Amino acid sequence: MEFRDLKRQYQAHRVQIDNALQEVIDSTHFIMGEQVARLEKELAGYTGVKHCIACGNGTDALQLTLMAWGIGPGDAVFVPDFTFFSSGEVVPLTGATPVFVDIDRETYNISIESLQAAVTYVLQNTDLRPKVVVAVDLFGQPADYRAIRRIAEQYGLLILEDAAQSFGAVAEERKTGSFGDISTTSFFPSKPLGCYGDGGAVFTENDEWADRLFSLRVHGKGSDKYDNIRIGMNSRLDTVQAAVLLQKLKFFDEELEACGRVADKYSEALKDIVRIPRQVDNTRSSWAQYTVCLQDTEERERVIAQMKADGIPSAVYYNKPMHRQKAFADGLIRAVPCENTEYVCARCLSLPFHPYMEDGEIEAVCSSIRRAVTV
Ligand SMILES: *Cc1c(COP(=O)(O)O)cnc(C)c1O
Repeated sequence: MEFRDLKRQYQAHRVQIDNALQEVIDSTHFIMGEQVARLEKELAGYTGVKHCIACGNGTDALQLTLMAWGIGPGDAVFVPDFTFFSSGEVVPLTGATPVFVDIDRETYNISIESLQAAVTYVLQNTDLRPKVVVAVDLFGQPADYRAIRRIAEQYGLLILEDAAQSFGAVAEERKTGSFGDISTTSFFPSKPLGCYGDGGAVFTENDEWADRLFSLRVHGKGSDKYDNIRIGMNSRLDTVQAAVLLQKLKFFDEELEACGRVADKYSEALKDIVRIPRQVDNTRSSWAQYTVCLQDTEERERVIAQMKADGIPSAVYYNKPMHRQKAFADGLIRAVPCENTEYVCARCLSLPFHPYMEDGEIEAVCSSIRRAVTV
């Protein structure tokens, strides 16, 4: 069994994807071919956001956003303690200071109480200016934007929605990618909407920020690419990746529906033996991961070993809080305790998950877990 079976998706849509790839090769417009602008238009339509700026990957998308806002030394950027490294990595790259915030144990997303406490701490105990909150929609579940907006308004924070894991998810009857002042996503192959290499995108309603983002992704270009008006990056989306994504968008919603069915089957089978992920009312997750919590690390080790013996892969996303990563040790600000993050890191386990999973496979995973937790 594979953890996320990308081969089945390719087999199911092979002809249309092969044709789209061949078209790019025949055109030899490998950089900024017409598919890139076409994809940007379709993604803007899909999310309901005015501007989409495609770029090299989801990490660059975050960095481009902070650059567009002019974030730098002396600025505090609030980041959940439980996320993929990128969400925080881009902050010191701009010279700003990351401040890690605890999560909610049930949704795995940023805790509003902890965010409030962290902002208060920074105002009272440091010289930093609170500027941005990075709201991550972890494992595909949208963060609590109603509450985040309240705090952002109170303290004048910009919201950067990191929707790398949640493309296609829905809350407040809107798609993710529309909740940030600027939102970003990733098309890394195993993300909900994945391409065949690296890729990413930035979304915003704001015309001025969009102009700046289009410039920043091509060396800070002005009227043309040999007119450079600011320091930027080289972060374009390859035409080949845009062509793949244009095809995959056509069956993306069907895949998301299949993901919902797989998640419901897992939850039904596992709800009495492990802590299943909470699905917030009136939201649709895009299920980048299906992540459960075991009683303790020992039980998790037992489950991993049993699954391995049964030929079933699993993964621990994530086993270390951000504030414990050595990369952030220099000048680390401990504004708030992150006990829920510590709790989840010690117990979380992500199960094989993709829209092409068959009932027999789901049952095999569940019975393997059942054997390990009832010994
Ligand atoms: C994958 C991911 C990123 C980075 O995306 P890349 O395309 O791999 O650079 C950023 N944030 C989160 C939460 C992610 O899961």
